[in-house]
Amino acid sequence: MGAPPLLRTTVRHTVTPLTPAISEASARPAVHEHEVLNPATEEHVATVPATSAAEVHTAVTRAAAAQRVWAALAPADRARLLRRFAVLVDEHGERLARLEVTEAGHTLGNARWEAANVRDLLDYAAGGVERLTGRQIPVPGGIDLTLLEPVGVVGVIVPWNFPMPIAAWAAAPALAAGNAVLLKPAETTPLTALHLARLALEAGLPEHLFQVVPGAGDVTGEALVAHPGVAKIVFTGSTRTGKHVMARCADRVKRLTLELGGKSPSLVFADADIETAAAAAPMSFLDNAGQDCCARTRVLVQRTVYDRFLELLAPALASVVVGDPADERSQMGPLISRTQLERVRGYVPEGAEALRGSAPDGPGFWYPPTVLTGVRPDAPVATEEVFGPVAVVLPFEDEADAVRLANATDYGLAGSVWTRDIGRALRVCGAVRAGNLSVNSHSAVRYWTPFGGCGQSGLGRELGPDALAAFTETKNVFISTED
Ligand code: NDP
Repeated sequence: MGAPPLLRTTVRHTVTPLTPAISEASARPAVHEHEVLNPATEEHVATVPATSAAEVHTAVTRAAAAQRVWAALAPADRARLLRRFAVLVDEHGERLARLEVTEAGHTLGNARWEAANVRDLLDYAAGGVERLTGRQIPVPGGIDLTLLEPVGVVGVIVPWNFPMPIAAWAAAPALAAGNAVLLKPAETTPLTALHLARLALEAGLPEHLFQVVPGAGDVTGEALVAHPGVAKIVFTGSTRTGKHVMARCADRVKRLTLELGGKSPSLVFADADIETAAAAAPMSFLDNAGQDCCARTRVLVQRTVYDRFLELLAPALASVVVGDPADERSQMGPLISRTQLERVRGYVPEGAEALRGSAPDGPGFWYPPTVLTGVRPDAPVATEEVFGPVAVVLPFEDEADAVRLANATDYGLAGSVWTRDIGRALRVCGAVRAGNLSVNSHSAVRYWTPFGGCGQSGLGRELGPDALAAFTETKNVFISTED
């Protein structure tokens, strides 16, 4: 038995892809273009043309046509094409990882994990295509069925902090559920997204099914959100922009998933393994230089072990290797931009009481690992998302006080509980308002478990067993069996 006809042919590049090529390779006149800088060196990496509102319109029209072709394919064929896409991502893993190091300053180890995560997300989503089942509900006088239909064209707006995984969190299940995807990367980090779009074509996905529309948020992003042909928006970024996107979606009652900011706590109880908790604390907020919505930037420590915890934390913080992200030994790289560097600096008062690590001097957007002690719980650095390598340590008295402090935020994304008491762990997990909690670990996001936030951290869930269903519309059909 040979491969189905679909897999024996590859898509022909008969139409010039809308996706702009990088710098000199593009002859298309740009409305605007953005320079991509290496944040570790401030050197020029590429110039990427931006997508105008009119081009977004063209992209949506083409995506809608491609979506109809895609949704009409046999589920097994769609799954096979997504697996082929995953194989190509795997083969290009090192290339993708190096691009991420260069444009986003991610450490090489992280960037390799991120490329592999895209591969795994595609594989996992491919496995869902043939399992995306509706229900048969008992009713009198007939049969009742639910059909899960693709929503159509999905707009995915991605920030600069995790350009590859966040793009794939939405794009992989959206495609698997039979939709087309228009992906708007952040202006600062479009290169991996553009490379992924090329791989999708090479894998044989229908042309224009997965398009990348680089450009500024207030032009390209706005056009995508406002377009009547885009049925759903998945937005990841700041709470401020997320609220604006939500209001624009409301104009059209457009489906929306929001993954927004966080100010996540780590609660360390006196009965915990304090050595392990202190050793794990630095990378819980320094990974990706703290530019992580799940960063545990509020370390809450029971007063009876507070001094001991700080004694252990100081050398752990100082030992974090901050340097050239392309060096395999580096654990932390630079911040994404000068704007972000200035923003982070603005949160740390001159002469503040703090534990500090080190960071390189010279070019690049470097900021040292910093833990502030003696900060008021209502200070901006203790309540706002800093998005840099800065955390605060605050003491608490007892379990009730710990929960009160943990919940003293409008955010509700993630958190960790450190204790040897299983009952306490479960009580505290029940009481802390957050979408993702871990006990005796700072668990990372897994593609096969749900992820998302409460309160001002967002709306809806991504990933996990229900990821595909979030990109479908449920249609109920009743079939009468009466004479
Ligand atoms: P934004 O939330 O503004 O940007 C996120 C994405 O949204 C980018 O692709 C951006 O495009 C796009 N965008 C911006 N404006 C609009 C709009 N009007 N309509 C549609 N899309 C839009 O974050 P910033 O990059 O400005 O970062 C500012 C702060 O936000 C950070 O310091 C950090 O605190 C927080 N942040 C939090 C993130 C999280 O995951 N929790 C992720 C990123 C930022 P473009 O950038 O190309 O203009």
